[in-house]
Amino acid sequence: MDSRRNFLQKISASVLTLSISGNAIASAKDFFNQPYEGPVLRVAIMGLGSYGTRVADAMQACAKAKLVGVISGTPAKIKNWQSKYNIPASNCYNYENFDLIKDNSEIDAVYVITPNALHHDQVIRLAKAGKHVICEKPMALNAKEGQEMIDACKKANVKLLVGYRMHFEPKTLEVIRMRKEGELGKVMFFQGLCGFKIGDPTQWRLNKQLAGGGSLMDIGIYAINGARYMVGEEPVWVTAQEAKTNPEKFKEGVDETIQFQLGFPGGAVASCLSSYNISNLDRFFLTAEKGFAELLPSTGYGPIKGRTNKGELNYTHITHQTVQMEKMAGIILSGETALVPVDGEEGLKDLKIIDGIYLALKTGKKVNLKL
Ligand code: NAD
Repeated sequence: MDSRRNFLQKISASVLTLSISGNAIASAKDFFNQPYEGPVLRVAIMGLGSYGTRVADAMQACAKAKLVGVISGTPAKIKNWQSKYNIPASNCYNYENFDLIKDNSEIDAVYVITPNALHHDQVIRLAKAGKHVICEKPMALNAKEGQEMIDACKKANVKLLVGYRMHFEPKTLEVIRMRKEGELGKVMFFQGLCGFKIGDPTQWRLNKQLAGGGSLMDIGIYAINGARYMVGEEPVWVTAQEAKTNPEKFKEGVDETIQFQLGFPGGAVASCLSSYNISNLDRFFLTAEKGFAELLPSTGYGPIKGRTNKGELNYTHITHQTVQMEKMAGIILSGETALVPVDGEEGLKDLKIIDGIYLALKTGKKVNLKL
């Protein structure tokens, strides 16, 4: 990468880092006044698919995190990544031999970006190898697995983070700030609409074995997670209904469309929709006694757009994954905290709700939640 590009990227990464922590857009001048000379998190990516590639590209702009290694089952991909990102052969592993990473002092953390059903075993193996782990959402297939991952990371004294990139998105954080500081008043209702029309019927996302479910595991989880951070409470009950129009494509155990409702202790309710068969579904709406907030789109790769009763939300868009990795490096290396947590416990809460939704569908009854 040429030095000018590097310089510009570092500025943008820094600008957003400052903007989201201080709620003000910093200038390039601030960046020069505060050059980053602290520790750098050396990361290997496991699973070199479409999202892994997006994260790798975004990390090129990070100052605090650096891509230094890969874990993949495809030698040709490893070779390609080695030349693209300047990765030494000594930092390349496959799914059979990656436990050897324990002897590699050049790698601090591994970012697991593989199909959902693989997360549990891979995270536990990485914890046993003594590496910090960042795991993609959903962290696991159910709460039992999630708890086992948390326990393994605790036992190994490594950090476990979940790739919740929206927890660092400035417009999202501004709505959360307004709600926390009472500017919106008592929260009454949240709506989370998350969906897209999924293509290729042979992909792992439509294979129960690898995906653990259907749209809910993949995209509906944004509405679950969003309901929690927008309302600012943990739900105490859930009800759910499923609609399936194409049982050929969405086989047994692979949900096509699910509606679910969450009840919160303060009296707020959430109404959410998760679908693999409805396009243009990416909206959060929060209404409270003194105001409202709308994010539309709410969880895509951005730019996120939003407005509240006070007007448009205006923050510079910077690649979500760049900010996420910058902030996660700070959490792992320096014990920094995220405004909305991104740890294993946070991932587990979403899994408990997912368990509750599937149970509500099975029984047709309201399910009480204990998060
Ligand atoms: P993908 O299919 O593009 O990539 C998955 C990678 O895993 C591929 O490189 C594949 O070769 C590898 N893999 C290893 N073992 C495999 C196996 N047994 N079967 C199939 N593939 C195997 O998928 P993706 O879109 O990159 O998703 C990966 C993970 O990232 C998922 O958990 C997904 O939910 C998550 N994700 C998160 C976001 C986000 O915005 N946070 C976005 C997309 C995907």
